[in-house]
Amino acid sequence: MTTPRSAGSRTADAAARRCAVCGQESRQPLHRPGPPEQAPDLDLRPGEPMRGTMARWLQQCPQCGYAAPDITRAHPAAAAVVAAAPFRALLAEGGHPPLARRFLAWACVLEETGALHAAAEATLQAAWVADDLAQPELARVWRLDAVALWRGGPALDLEQMVRVVDALRRAEAFDDADSAAAELAGTRPPESVAQVVALERRLIAAGDTGRHTVASALPPPSRRPHAAMRGHKPGPGLWETLKRLFRR
Ligand SMILES: [Zn+2]
Repeated sequence: MTTPRSAGSRTADAAARRCAVCGQESRQPLHRPGPPEQAPDLDLRPGEPMRGTMARWLQQCPQCGYAAPDITRAHPAAAAVVAAAPFRALLAEGGHPPLARRFLAWACVLEETGALHAAAEATLQAAWVADDLAQPELARVWRLDAVALWRGGPALDLEQMVRVVDALRRAEAFDDADSAAAELAGTRPPESVAQVVALERRLIAAGDTGRHTVASALPPPSRRPHAAMRGHKPGPGLWETLKRLFRR
């Protein structure tokens, strides 16, 4: 039985999927998130309602362990990665939360197939899982792993630079975080990004490793003529404005 992807129905929340690595068919969650309504964290982790749907972001084959947003597709080299010792060891790491292992499995495939920045993002997502499960040491290690992956890839864009600063701060790597923030400030970024960087530098100076949202970095919308003119609500408006700047 197949479920058309374009069914448009919110009732179907799982469907049969054939793994592109091993051919096993399994029921997999379908991910149809609504747009985030709350502002994202400083590392751009989306606000609710999308924030709470991480268990549905990736599919994972129960047979071979391959994990991806869509396991019916795979890089030509994915099968070799999935069969290799590092991937098998990662899946067998009983001390790590299963959902985090799923993100790390996807990160492993991405890294081994050369997509270092995407691997960094998936590794940061594993850290978010650890945050939610109150496992700060795992979150710290995976944030530092994510930063290493970002830095191992091509030149970073503005959004990635912001994420590196926040990941380093939250991993208590304050000196490195402040250097990265200073470098970002030196690129003379747009005002909204500059405000995020300024908040990061205040948090770094205060030794604050906590979660903060981009909304706390920006002044109220009434004092921000661009957002006010567009008639945005405060929460998503701030984020949409910031996002436009990042995408430019
Ligand atoms: Zn499989």
